[in-house]
Amino acid sequence: MKKDVCVCVQLVNHAPSNVSLEALALAAKLTDGEGKVSALVLGAEEADLASTLIAYGADRVVLVKGGRLAEFSADAYVQALHAVLGELSPQIVLLGSTGEGKELAARAAEMSCADYVSDVIDVAVEGENLYWKRFAYSGSVIQKETAQTACVFATVRPNAFKKCEPDAARTGETLVKEYQAEDQALKTQVLEMITTMSEDAKIEEADIVVCAGRGMGSEEDCKALQELADLLGGVVGGTRPAVEAGWVARNNLIGQSGKSVAPRIYIAFGVSGAVQHLAGISGADYIVAVNRDEDAAIFNVANVGIVADAKQALTVMIDEIKRMQSK
Ligand SMILES: Cc1cc2nc3c(=O)[nH]c(=O)nc-3n(C[C@H](O)[C@H](O)[C@H](O)COP(=O)(O)OP(=O)(O)OC[C@H]3O[C@@H](n4cnc5c(N)ncnc54)[C@H](O)[C@@H]3O)c2cc1C
Repeated sequence: MKKDVCVCVQLVNHAPSNVSLEALALAAKLTDGEGKVSALVLGAEEADLASTLIAYGADRVVLVKGGRLAEFSADAYVQALHAVLGELSPQIVLLGSTGEGKELAARAAEMSCADYVSDVIDVAVEGENLYWKRFAYSGSVIQKETAQTACVFATVRPNAFKKCEPDAARTGETLVKEYQAEDQALKTQVLEMITTMSEDAKIEEADIVVCAGRGMGSEEDCKALQELADLLGGVVGGTRPAVEAGWVARNNLIGQSGKSVAPRIYIAFGVSGAVQHLAGISGADYIVAVNRDEDAAIFNVANVGIVADAKQALTVMIDEIKRMQSK
């Protein structure tokens, strides 16, 4: 059955986020060449966004502008999203599984009386049925769901799907729409945007990830991890014990119950390699692990394994990188 899919694109520093491009790749798979993939950008000002989104798989780009859309406001965005989807009438609406994406998807689905599936990690087409797969019960089982409504909203877990190789020769249409949100529907007002360090550097988008495990020992020792991440232009993440101890921001928990990362290089310090953690690093290209136990499970997936004390290895790495950078 022909399916039109609409991806609501989120921007990071004025460019489409990785998870939005991954959602576009999933959208192309779901239409199977028969339906249309629309990329919807709320509050977009940049004209060159459209060509990027078309290169990554969109057949149609809808740029929605309006006074209340310049900054993210859930009330204004959900109104605009609902209005534009009413015109496009897709059977599937995809968003990134981020805080903003999940809020918008849940509210817009409720307004459209549509089913909503969050945190999708895979899909399966069986006959006429489309099944959405997601972790449930903190990642201990994979749940398979199918929608009962004509339109379904889904949020896509970052790094669960691979984005397409961009094809600059692809063509598509671009529509620009104006939407003015109704004042009385705006229950909140954005006074100021304050970006925290952990939000600024999104771990799911990072090229280099440095990970703290319980073996790092203390919050104080984890500060050196930030120094290493800064030297490499990376982001610090943590295992559940490191997050629960308050050494690493909760936002940057890596694993089944946290984020999936897909960096070029992932460096683990004092991480045992539990399956729930490994589920979040399967997208990493190159894994370096430091653990004092030579039998630690993390070494089974590491490209380079270093049997050493985590703090000592960290100090050596920092000193060596500084020495190389000062040359
Ligand atoms: C339903 C469920 C969901 C979960 N979700 C997640 C999740 O999303 N993410 C996650 O990370 N965990 C998750 N967990 C927890 C997971 O099972 C592990 O307990 C956790 O990943 C272990 O973290 P760790 O490797 O930091 O600690 P540990 O398993 O305690 O390992 C510490 C490691 O550090 C090494 N070490 C100790 N001291 C040093 C030293 N000085 N130098 C070098 N190495 C040292 C030890 O040899 C050991 O290998 C989940 C668990 C459940 C049941």
